[in-house]
Order: sequence, then structure tokens, then C-alpha cells
Amino acid sequence: NSGERKSAIKERHKQTASEVIPDNRQLYIGGGWEPSSSGESFETTDPTTGETLASVSAGTAKDIDRAVEAAWDAYDEVYSDMSTAKRQAMLTEIADVIEEHSEAFARLESLDNGKPITEARIDIDLVTDHFRYFAGIARAEEGRTINTDDSRHVQTIREPYGVVGQIIPWNFPLLMAAWKLAPALSAGNTVVIKPAEETPLSILKLMEVTEDVIPDGVVNVVTGFGPEAGEPLSKHPDIRKLAFTGSTTVGSEVMKSAAEHITDVTLELGGKSPLVIFPDADLEQAVETTITSIFFNTGECCCAGSRLFVHEDIKDEFLDSLTDAAEDLTIDDPLLESTDLGPKVTAEQVERTMSYIQDAEAEGAAFVTGGTQPDDEALSDGCFVAPTLIDGIDHDSDPVQEEIFGPVQEVFSWSDYDEMIELANDVDYGLAAGVLTEDLTKAHQCARDIEAGNIWVNTYNDFPAGQPFGGYKQSGVGREIGQEAVEHYTQTKSIDISLD
Ligand code: NAD
Repeated sequence: NSGERKSAIKERHKQTASEVIPDNRQLYIGGGWEPSSSGESFETTDPTTGETLASVSAGTAKDIDRAVEAAWDAYDEVYSDMSTAKRQAMLTEIADVIEEHSEAFARLESLDNGKPITEARIDIDLVTDHFRYFAGIARAEEGRTINTDDSRHVQTIREPYGVVGQIIPWNFPLLMAAWKLAPALSAGNTVVIKPAEETPLSILKLMEVTEDVIPDGVVNVVTGFGPEAGEPLSKHPDIRKLAFTGSTTVGSEVMKSAAEHITDVTLELGGKSPLVIFPDADLEQAVETTITSIFFNTGECCCAGSRLFVHEDIKDEFLDSLTDAAEDLTIDDPLLESTDLGPKVTAEQVERTMSYIQDAEAEGAAFVTGGTQPDDEALSDGCFVAPTLIDGIDHDSDPVQEEIFGPVQEVFSWSDYDEMIELANDVDYGLAAGVLTEDLTKAHQCARDIEAGNIWVNTYNDFPAGQPFGGYKQSGVGREIGQEAVEHYTQTKSIDISLD
């Protein structure tokens, strides 16, 4: 019965927490664990049970100053002299250590973020692969020789910035850290990173298990809130490069802060991505891909396929199958192997999603399925939202134009290709898109016509290391996870040698 299930969930979480939560939860600065200068801390909560998982130091501007100083000391004294071969070995060792603790990391992500354990394992595999990819790339750095005229030899070399600042969100806590740390370290920079206040635990564990691998001060972690710790980092005069992942609203603030000292920025921001289904698509595969596009990570994906454009010839049949598949998803304790959909990260995020659902209802939209929190007493302390499909909503309305960041997909049908493309591009965002068709020409055409940085054809939500990721329009500036990421963490120096 639900009372027993609820107690079993609580017991499972308590036991897991005792096994995987890191012992050190202070700030990690210069290779040591230190309290915040204010002496304050904050609690991180388990979104499945509503119980406190741990207390973590709340960093301030003073702590950011100390961390930036420690990062420069490490850069000047150790890291700028480390050979690329040694940097490569260090990144490889980081990957090995994470792999050794991979199950503990996966369970920790599942506890702190609420993601299903099967999906958390995918995150951790990607994390290790990213460190390995950027270990390899460390040795592949090349400059150019440029033919100007016979009296000179002009060459370019790429150099690290020195100290970079990084601010990350809560939806893929360790993976977002890996997307930032691996290329920055590979390129020869030292780092000050601020994790999201909702999910600070996995990066603290990373620092704990790599204490003997990463030289002191090369990576510094200041946990804390956006205004108190994030903003001082984005405004810091001694940060030479800033990389931010989060909402477009905060990204715009970060860009303004960075402008004060002309600090270079990479921004990975929000999305409202279209998934386009052509009438010739393989129906079964299309349903599976659509489910992945919106319900993977409980819809808390910047690139979630939150607007579905299905051809009118197949709409009814497709929507029937999609509804069955959505209703078949298992919503339960994310630590269970059988769970497909866990809780959202916080009660605040549930409120945000539910308020968009209410707005859609007020707009007269129809709920094909969902639109509620699950009616399951065993999950009543958690931040759960049922998988939701919305039909008949105006494309200009706020729930369509804005990022909901939850398990909610809005459905549109199309018949005229040009009109569909116009609508697919009619949002401020341009992060990703999916195209499902058996026709290669149509797939290529559609991939070119959609204004977005990442187009998946007959697949969705793949993030292999090496594939550049980033947004068009208000979804961001710059690219991560591929070779281009290293370019964003280095600057070009031209050397002009006179041959006269
Ligand atoms: P958020 O913008 O609220 O917070 C992101 C980070 O910024 C957190 O660490 C937060 O503490 C910090 N922050 C908040 N205010 C700040 C300020 N004034 N100055 C500096 N830092 C500040 O976003 P979130 O709710 O944590 O994450 C969800 C958002 O992230 C979604 O919009 C999602 O699309 C986006 N996201 C984008 C990508 C991508 O690669 N494009 C990946 C993951 C998430």
C-alpha cells in the first residue's frame, strides 16, 4: 500500500544518502576546504522526499575574491608550466577516478536532482567520456603559419586565458561541470566554478575524490546563491573568461556584468525546441523519439523538444500512440531501476510548471494527457508532475513562447512545409530541433531551414563529446563540448617575425 511504499522510499533515500553524500561540504579553495567568509550555509533538499540532504557553505563576494586569487597563484606557480602531456594525463586520471566511483556519483545525482538512476548513469558515462575527449584534444592544439609576404614569417599560437569563471545550472549538475571544466583545463586555464544552489553535492564529491589528482588551486569551487556568489564571479576584474549555463534572463545579466571589464563570455541558455514529424516517419520510432525528446530528465533539458509539429495526415494515429506511451511511463522513486520519470528539482520548479499549465488551460487548450501532479499518495512529499501533452494552444501564447522546463509538450499539426518552418522558427530561442523522416533530402532541407544550433535527425538528446553544442538567437553565444570549446578557452596570439 502507499503508506508502506512511502516509508520504503524514505528509508532507501536515507540509506543512500549515508553512503554517497560527500563528507566535505565547505568551499574548496586553493586545495583546502574552508567555511564561507560569512559563516553561513544553506540546505540542499531531496526532491523525492522533501527532506534535507545536507548543509553546504554559502559563498560570498569575499570568497570569490579568495578563490580567484588562489586560481591565479596556481596558474602562475604550477599550471602554466605544466606540459600538455601532463595535463592530458591529469584529465585522463580524473576520468578514471570518476569511473571508479560512477555508481556513487549516479546515486548522488539521483538524490540531489531527482533524475531517474538509469538516466543519472548516462550522465556519469558522458562525464567520464568528456574528460577523456578533452584529454586527447590537449595534445592536438595547433597554430597556423600565414603567408603574408617574403620578408616576414607570421604564425599564430593559442594561449590560455589564465583564470576562467564558470557558473552552472542544476539540471545535469556533474555533466554541466564536466562540459566546462574539461575544455578549460585541457586548454591550460585554472578555474573558479559556482554550481547551482539546488544541486551542489556532486561537484563537491568530485573535488573530494580528485584531491590527489588536480594540483591545489587549479579548480576552486564556491557553492552559493546567484546574487551572492554568481554575480561577484561574473563581475570580477581578474576573471579573463566567463562561461555561463542557465536561463536567458540571468545570461543577459551575466553578459552585462562581463561587459564591465570586457571579459569574454560563452553563454548556454534556454530553449523552446521544435520536433518536426513528416508523414513518412516510422511511427513506432517516432513515438519513442518524441518521448525521449520531452520526458528525458523530466523535461528539465535546455534542448527539450517542447513544441511538436506533426504532419496532419498522421496526427490522430500518432497522438493516440504517443498518449499511450506517455501514460505508460512509470513515475516513481528515481532510485528504482524501473522509474522513467522522477520528481522535478524543487517545489519552486513544480509551481512554475503548474502555472504554465494553468495559463494553457485559461487559453482554452486541451490536455491530451496529464496537466496535473500524479495522484499517488506514496509520492505526495515529492516534486512530481505527470507527463503532459497539450493540444489546441495558440502559438503566440506565453506557455508556447516561453520555456516551461518540465514534462510538458505542446502539439501542432502542419500540412504546408513553409508555414510549418515559419512557426518552428517563431520563438526567441534557437537551441535545438528534431526532424523525423525516412527521406534524406527532406531531412537535410529541414535541418537547414530551422534556426537552431543543434539538429537531431531520427534521434534526440544525444550529446557525444566532440559534437559542438550551443544556441542560435537568444539560446546563447559560443559552443561547448567539441573542438570549438577549446577555442573558446584560448586566445590567439599572432607572432610576426621579420626576415629582413
Ligand atoms: P538560472 O539562470 O536561474 O541559474 C543558473 C546559474 O546561475 C545558477 O548557478 C545560479 O545560482 C546562477 N545565477 C543566478 N543569478 C545569477 C546572477 N545574477 N549572476 C550570476 N549568476 C547567477 O538557471 P537554472 O534555473 O539553474 O537552470 C535552468 C536554465 O538553464 C534553463 O533556462 C535551461 O534551458 C538552461 N540550460 C541551458 C543549457 C544549455 O546548454 N544551453 C544547459 C542546461 C540548462
